[in-house]
Amino acid sequence: MKYRHLKRCGNIKVSEIALGCEGFLGKSPAEYRSMTDKAFELGINFIDMYTSDPSFRDNFGAAIKGRRDKIVLQGHIGSAWENGQYLRTRDAEKTKKAFDDQLKRLGTDYLDIGMIHYVDSESDLDKILSGEFIKYCVALKEKGYIRALGMSSHNPKAAKKAIETGLIDVLMFSVNAAYDMQPPSENVDDLFEPENYKNGFANPDPNRVALYECCEREGIAIDVMKTFGGGDMLSAELSPFGVAFNEYQCIEYCLTRPAVVSVMAGCHSEREMEKLAGYYSASREERDYSGVLSGMKKFKFHGNCMYCGHCAPCTAGINIADVNKYLNLSLAQNTVPETVADHYRLLEHHAGECVECGRCEQNCPFGVEIINKMKEAKNIFGY
Ligand code: SF4
Ligand code: SF4
Repeated sequence: MKYRHLKRCGNIKVSEIALGCEGFLGKSPAEYRSMTDKAFELGINFIDMYTSDPSFRDNFGAAIKGRRDKIVLQGHIGSAWENGQYLRTRDAEKTKKAFDDQLKRLGTDYLDIGMIHYVDSESDLDKILSGEFIKYCVALKEKGYIRALGMSSHNPKAAKKAIETGLIDVLMFSVNAAYDMQPPSENVDDLFEPENYKNGFANPDPNRVALYECCEREGIAIDVMKTFGGGDMLSAELSPFGVAFNEYQCIEYCLTRPAVVSVMAGCHSEREMEKLAGYYSASREERDYSGVLSGMKKFKFHGNCMYCGHCAPCTAGINIADVNKYLNLSLAQNTVPETVADHYRLLEHHAGECVECGRCEQNCPFGVEIINKMKEAKNIFGY
């Protein structure tokens, strides 16, 4: 297992492959225990708990009893349980009651990340930001009931507006190669609608690209939901692209987006966890998503770096994907932010070392003019 840091949250360390909670639902207490044991054995130390189902909270609380310090808990604020059903709420009283219930049932006195639950519309966000809800969230952090404040969303516009407040440390966002083509929408169902993909797309949606870049620049960690598009990405019949990805290609795609720290996978069994952890022993070919993306007719990813790393090895040892990432972060700002300059400085080799051999361009499946990019990066960063 590999780990990444939540930079704005005291550098909390989370596993790249993490758990969603849906796979636990309906399981027996013994199964909760054995699945949690398996997760720890594989090095998984991070879970998202969007559900307000009391049985989940009770059983998972029992499964982590005595080992709370081994797991990073991401719980939701505004996910309540009423009349035996899940309820998304912004009501102050219900929100507080649901949060208190969450801590009590889990048997802990704090969450590592408190997620403002499921904000897809800008009007919902405005309401949250101008009312008691956000004050409650900020107070939870100040009092130590949460170590970091997050928000979950499927809409890049609402998400960007939220992170621009400076209040959000972690964003839970739906990421996969298909959704990345879609323009923003306040209706999550648009992401699944085949009709919306029928005419194809050229290059990822600029709002999503801007969101990821903004998060990277500001040190906001993204943890990913819908890595497999609810399973659709794994099936040629159901995938919006009409071709199937494998699990490792989906994971690799997400983990190579700027700012992403973890993919939250809804594993239903220990076997599924083992399969996903197999990502680390999978061959480069099994993980490589570039061949699938570049081979599509209706969807064009041309001329833009997709950070796939397929151009390696560089004759001069330059990490071309990283240079392109920092270049794009700077171009988007019309300046070189200090943090980006620092990341660039820490690279072992820099764009100025490019000897223009052209080897990388032959390997790039997306037609990126890498030599020109290296020249541009040298101009911007100075070396
Ligand atoms: S330059 Fe091309 S091959 Fe290299 S990381 Fe970018 S898209 Fe991939
Ligand atoms: S052209 Fe430059 S960046 Fe590409 S492989 Fe050669 S030295 Fe590396």
